[in-house]
Amino acid sequence: MTRPFVNWSGSLSFTPAGRAEPAGEDEVRDLVLRARESGRTLRPVGSGHSSSPLVRTDGLLVSLDRMAGVLSLADLRATAWGGTRLKALGESLYDAGLAMDNLGDVDYQSIAGATATGTHGTGLGFGNLSTQVSGVRLVAGTGEVLEISATSNAELLPAARLSLGALGVVTQLTLDVQPRYVLRRRAWCAPVEWTLDHLAELAHTNRNMDFYWYPRNDLTQVRTMNRADDLPEDRMWAARRVPEPGPWSEPKELELGPTHRTIPQNRELRFEEIEYMLPSEAFPACFAEVRRRILSRHRRSVGWRVLVRTIAADDIWLSNAYGRPTTTIACLQNTSLPYEEYFRDMESVFRQYGGRPHWGKKHWLTARELRPLYPRWDDFQAARRRLDPDRVFGTPDLDRLLEEA
Ligand SMILES: Cc1cc2nc3c(=O)[nH]c(=O)nc-3n(C[C@H](O)[C@H](O)[C@H](O)COP(=O)(O)OP(=O)(O)OC[C@H]3O[C@@H](n4cnc5c(N)ncnc54)[C@H](O)[C@@H]3O)c2cc1C
Repeated sequence: MTRPFVNWSGSLSFTPAGRAEPAGEDEVRDLVLRARESGRTLRPVGSGHSSSPLVRTDGLLVSLDRMAGVLSLADLRATAWGGTRLKALGESLYDAGLAMDNLGDVDYQSIAGATATGTHGTGLGFGNLSTQVSGVRLVAGTGEVLEISATSNAELLPAARLSLGALGVVTQLTLDVQPRYVLRRRAWCAPVEWTLDHLAELAHTNRNMDFYWYPRNDLTQVRTMNRADDLPEDRMWAARRVPEPGPWSEPKELELGPTHRTIPQNRELRFEEIEYMLPSEAFPACFAEVRRRILSRHRRSVGWRVLVRTIAADDIWLSNAYGRPTTTIACLQNTSLPYEEYFRDMESVFRQYGGRPHWGKKHWLTARELRPLYPRWDDFQAARRRLDPDRVFGTPDLDRLLEEA
């Protein structure tokens, strides 16, 4: 009997017909061809950190955990196996004197899984992780192995950089990287009005900036990160933490170190999350409504915080920052507490302001609502028809997301 799959938060579980952990691209190809011949579905899975049902299948669940590690480094480009976890990638890059441009809140994800859903960090000058992808190698639904980059099958690149696992099994990714650098993280608490009044200034004067809003006490915690290249190398290792500052505290230096150790945090308390990407100009009105509704309707049942971040605009077809500078609002809820009524209410607010849902988090949109939000939607569908004509990677969940009834 096949082992059931349970995602990180525990809200998604299913038992696939089979599981496979191929050790190389030829094995991936065989699995895809066999699935195609037998009419079975195959879904690639990373670290299982998504809580939307992207990987749910009654067919074969394929993990690239055995296809991990960096393959080559040259000219500020790194090529890695799709199954490489962000943490391991960060360490390998660091050892070679390199670093990613930006990262999200954790580093447990696989690089193929993180980029397949547009995982992002924060910073006006930084796109999501998919924007760091300059090349993709994948096994398409036809069994064909395709190199996709600016010089090879270039027309598919804007689809393949963020593909929800709908175009093929991504075996390798090439990323633009940069010489390693040191970041200094600071955090302080402030009344929400102060943070909102100073938001534009904070976002423009810090490399990375985000804030948490805590509905229970209506305070915020502002977090900034900036390069600290002036520091001697030995201090980089003196990463240190101080107790979280109290309300309206002076900024405290919380952590100092290389990118891959400073940006990602340890998240051991499990939570559910909905996150929507808003056109930045819509953020102030949207956040005001989110705050009003949470305080008036959900305060008693909301145990956790709301996170606000920024993402630079990009030109990736299914990116939720496509074509617009983006500000994101994420609502978190402890896994022990009900989330659906709260998240659905928040979703109705986000939608009023033109929000696009995070592909890997909770949302209730289907192709009918999603298509008008993505100007290049039909181009992605054409790429899908070309690379997966027999829907080897298609499941009812994916079809609901990508195909209008
Ligand atoms: C604690 C926590 C913190 C998070 N922090 C952030 C954050 O800061 N910013 C943010 O944007 N998101 C964040 N997320 C969301 C998370 O980054 C995404 O859901 C991401 O997709 C998870 O990557 P994964 O490796 O677990 O992939 P999975 O969840 O396993 O899969 C996600 C998608 O990738 C596809 N996929 C996986 N491997 C391959 C492959 N080899 N080829 C083709 N497709 C593949 C799957 O089919 C699926 O469609 C967080 C989630 C959690 C639970």
